[in-house]
Amino acid sequence: MAVTENFIENLPADMFPPMEFTQRTQRLQSRMQRDGLDGLVVTNLTNLRYLTGFTGSAGVLLVTQGELLFVSDGRYRDQSVAEIAAAGVDLRIEIVAADPDSVIAEAALHAGVDSLGLEAQSVTWAAQQRWQSELFTTGEITATHGVIEELRLIKDAGEAARIRAACAIADEALLQVRPRLGEGPTEVEFGLELDARMRTLGAADLSFETIVASGPNGAKPHHHPSSRQIREGDLVVIDFGALIDGYHSDMTRTVAVGDVGPDRQNMLDVVLASQQAGVEAIYPGVSAAEVDAACRQVIAEAGLEEAFLHSTGHGVGLDIHEEPRVSSRSTAILRPGHVVTVEPGVYLPEFGGVRIEDTLLVTDGGCDRLTLAPKNPSL
Ligand code: ZN
Ligand code: ZN
Repeated sequence: MAVTENFIENLPADMFPPMEFTQRTQRLQSRMQRDGLDGLVVTNLTNLRYLTGFTGSAGVLLVTQGELLFVSDGRYRDQSVAEIAAAGVDLRIEIVAADPDSVIAEAALHAGVDSLGLEAQSVTWAAQQRWQSELFTTGEITATHGVIEELRLIKDAGEAARIRAACAIADEALLQVRPRLGEGPTEVEFGLELDARMRTLGAADLSFETIVASGPNGAKPHHHPSSRQIREGDLVVIDFGALIDGYHSDMTRTVAVGDVGPDRQNMLDVVLASQQAGVEAIYPGVSAAEVDAACRQVIAEAGLEEAFLHSTGHGVGLDIHEEPRVSSRSTAILRPGHVVTVEPGVYLPEFGGVRIEDTLLVTDGGCDRLTLAPKNPSL
């Protein structure tokens, strides 16, 4: 086979619109002002990346109305300077050998911070107690919930373009590798070939561990690829994605290998109709719960509601699973710029399963499908 073209490297260097880093911190500072927070300590690494462009595994950011202070260790001395400069974020960088929290605390006290927020979802109990009893004893420590995650809901043009490219790589990889399903590979072998093809096409990494679930294994929504050989008559659930510059894609296709018989074909048709109903339900102002209900109704009408074992979808961005959740319990309202999946499925023990999933961008007029692969492929 000829060397596969690299999707990303063959495109111009400025293929992605820039991301709006400066506006992100400004929006955060206004939100903090509204919430009465003088300072916020950002410890969630995804949120840190969102605000600064820093991609390393150790760093803390202090945000106040006056300045931004980033603290990391010697491993990231050069990388942090380069990445933060590339993002165009105006902040002070301190590289320390140990205990970045105490440097952050000192800076917060020096800046006259009275009310300091910690990110409740990413701070351990031990760290919170240390902040309270040792690091920041003169002011008030506040638990914050999802403040930056809320800013991340609406993707800017640069983010949407990266997710779109990640989706295109996943589409193309499946298109190229799909014929292999007819040659009797094991689930592991097929998964590895799909993964390798995404990397060759320019993915920086996989979005998550690829799921290949054939025959009866398809009844488990999060099956790990096994040594089972894929054979004629199987439905094969393939759930996978590519990563581009930190941004994920997420898609599932269920491929019919040869003649799968009327019952499995019926499952496929029901999920296809359900997924279509979910996509058509997406427009700005609709609640995520309504999208879930649209998918669920089609499956219920076919008498398979008990076999739809999970919620309809989730947000996708710097995290593979993020807000807004698309479920019956979700209170989210979809807005232009949200990126969500629609992924109904049915799973029958010992018989098999079907799931079909697209990643979609909510637009002013409805939604833009970022996943474009045919939804009902067969061999
Ligand atoms: Zn998926
Ligand atoms: Zn998903």
